[in-house]
Amino acid sequence: MTRLADRTVAIIGGGIGGLTAALAFAQAGARVTVFEQAPALTEVGAGLQITPNGARVLDALGLSQKASAMGVVARAVQPTDALSGRAVTRFDLSRQAPPYRFFYRYDLVSLLYDAAGSAGVSFVFGAKISEVMQDGRFVAEEKTQTPDLLIGADGLHSSVRLLLSNAIDAPFFTGQVAWRAVVPDIAAEPVAKIWMAPGKHVVTYPLRGSGLNVVAVQERSAWAAEGWNHADDPANLQDAFADCGRDLKKILQRIETVNLWGLFRHPVATTWYHDSMAILGDAAHPTLPFLAQGANLALEDAYVLVAALKANQTDAAGLAVYQAKRRNRVTRAINAANANARNYHLSGVKAQVAHAGLRVLGRVAPDAFLNRLSWLYDHDVTKDTYQLAAV
Ligand SMILES: Cc1cc2nc3c(=O)[nH]c(=O)nc-3n(C[C@H](O)[C@H](O)[C@H](O)COP(=O)(O)OP(=O)(O)OC[C@H]3O[C@@H](n4cnc5c(N)ncnc54)[C@H](O)[C@@H]3O)c2cc1C
Repeated sequence: MTRLADRTVAIIGGGIGGLTAALAFAQAGARVTVFEQAPALTEVGAGLQITPNGARVLDALGLSQKASAMGVVARAVQPTDALSGRAVTRFDLSRQAPPYRFFYRYDLVSLLYDAAGSAGVSFVFGAKISEVMQDGRFVAEEKTQTPDLLIGADGLHSSVRLLLSNAIDAPFFTGQVAWRAVVPDIAAEPVAKIWMAPGKHVVTYPLRGSGLNVVAVQERSAWAAEGWNHADDPANLQDAFADCGRDLKKILQRIETVNLWGLFRHPVATTWYHDSMAILGDAAHPTLPFLAQGANLALEDAYVLVAALKANQTDAAGLAVYQAKRRNRVTRAINAANANARNYHLSGVKAQVAHAGLRVLGRVAPDAFLNRLSWLYDHDVTKDTYQLAAV
């Protein structure tokens, strides 16, 4: 029995962060309800890359076997010159443990939802929570909910974040838009390809079955609405990459439906908790997709949140440890993601020099890519020695 046993926990938001927290709280004996604004789990969101740091959380929650059946194990990451279509180099990912995998977002959400349901979590769909009081009370299902703990896992436009910070941390447009799509029925090796071109890039990787996930980013001065589900004409995407090589164009020409979103930078929240209330995942730190860490950081947050509450005598102490453990790490990951966008979009001599450097690195120091990211991928929030008690 942990000190969370029989305590009531309300989680606003049933995305990857909210569902992971729900499962972890339920495994610790809490009575958990998830309030999700969508009317049901829906098949949106294309693909996600789950890197070893995120996979450790799935393993620790007992989901390793089912995750293995759903994910495609990545063999390598391959920076590619999008104009010529030639691989610049290839960095091995095949020795990662747990493996680096590619998932359908819906598979991952379903996996967490099923596991949470089996662990006793209740779900209220179609519940858009518009106002939370300072003491964590809110109205849902026509009555006032008074949970012992309230978790805001309500994503990009979190109302719980707003309540905690008491100020609007205005996001700003990065000058980049992104399209995402899945190309059906296309054979591809299990490699994340980064097709780099001046002012733009595309990332492709295969998903379970025969789908290929495509995320294409272009620099632009015009604003596009922030969010994940704005339909666009595939011709706009194809036109944007019309000067690229045949291999990439062949992929883009097969896209029938595509979503477009504007990429915004949000500051990492200054305050992640108050009394018995906390935020996690995108609610605390929306993350640009250039390091594939949005879902991985949400998995880590959720695990650390529950573990820190278990390891400490009071909610206040547990939540303080949670924020202290998470804030610097996610800030570092977000800064690294922001830097990647610049590196992928070089042009002219700068691009030639950068590509030549990558080629040499791939030949003389093939582990360099992973060594550079070991602080990210080797991080294990689930190990026993992970220090969670207040000091
Ligand atoms: C529809 C969708 C598609 C995505 N697709 C991709 C993708 O293809 N690739 C990628 O890298 N990342 C994608 N992401 C982002 C990625 O999944 C997140 O960075 C990561 O999973 C963080 O998860 P989260 O749980 O913090 O937030 P989210 O996944 O954004 O989940 C937040 C949840 O809260 C719910 N919610 C919000 N406000 C309220 C409210 N007031 N009341 C009740 N519920 C509320 C939302 O409906 C949502 O289900 C997507 C996110 C979403 C929502």
